[in-house]
Amino acid sequence: MSIVIENLNYTYMAGGPYETQALREVSLTIEDGEFVGLIGHTGSGKSTLVQHLNGLLMPTSGRIMVDGLDLADKNTDRRAIRRRVGLVFQYPENQLFEETVEKDIAFGPKNLGLDDKEIDRRVRDAMRRVALDYDTLHERSVFELSGGQMRRVAIAGVLAMEPQVLVLDEPCAGLDPRGREEILSLIRNLHSECGTTIVMVSHSMDDVASLAERVIVMNKGQVFMDGVPRDVFSRGEELRAIGLDVPQAVQLAEKLRARGFAVPEGIYRVEEIKAAIEAIVGKGEKHA
Ligand code: ADP
Ligand code: MG
Repeated sequence: MSIVIENLNYTYMAGGPYETQALREVSLTIEDGEFVGLIGHTGSGKSTLVQHLNGLLMPTSGRIMVDGLDLADKNTDRRAIRRRVGLVFQYPENQLFEETVEKDIAFGPKNLGLDDKEIDRRVRDAMRRVALDYDTLHERSVFELSGGQMRRVAIAGVLAMEPQVLVLDEPCAGLDPRGREEILSLIRNLHSECGTTIVMVSHSMDDVASLAERVIVMNKGQVFMDGVPRDVFSRGEELRAIGLDVPQAVQLAEKLRARGFAVPEGIYRVEEIKAAIEAIVGKGEKHA
């Protein structure tokens, strides 16, 4: 299921004194099964863009086609599309409201009118995917859980809709390193085991470097770069010029090159820089 965005413009508070054009002529296609990392400075339009992917926001002008269906077309079943394109907001745990973990995760499937057996299957499956133990946690109040667990309950609620495309807006924001790693690993598994298409907004170049197969860079409401991570992260100067970093592996490779070490171009992953350093150290030993 592909998502095609054509000449998307979006303006907040159009015509008023605080009018803000958040997106300008954005055109992109997200193909079935991709893992897209979406990066950009604060205010560059990432959140506005991802809220268009399931029709939560409608374009001021331009078009969004999901699986060939125009979201603005009156005949398009927008509810059906929201089911297939799951959106996890930033700080999604703020929207938890049911008394128990189970009820919260079951909320979406219940609204779909599924029978109790199917709802139960989906809740258990979603909890397993986010590594929350059903037996010990399903009757607990979400407000007794840790921040990382609450975040995972919120994600499980979206997964229980069994979306084909999962869009996550800064899913690791505000979590400690362990919480972040848990979230990243569940996203990685969803992509590799279920083939779910992933669009992940992130502030962390390292997270994007380790997971994404394609990187879209937003700047001032426009697509600034769109390519494979190796190409995007080789353009460090341009990224820095729009207030972004490069992954740590790229930074280290640049420093080593500046000191005269022969580090191959195009390195952006931790494993690659490790191998490059080992090659350098190995050579040093041979000469000693
Ligand atoms: P990002 O997620 O990359 O930080 P946003 O999509 O949130 O960017 O914001 C893009 C632009 O739209 C910014 O200028 C921001 O101030 C503005 N904006 C975002 N949300 C709203 C809103 N609800 N009302 C008015 N302006 C908004
Ligand atoms: Mg945002």
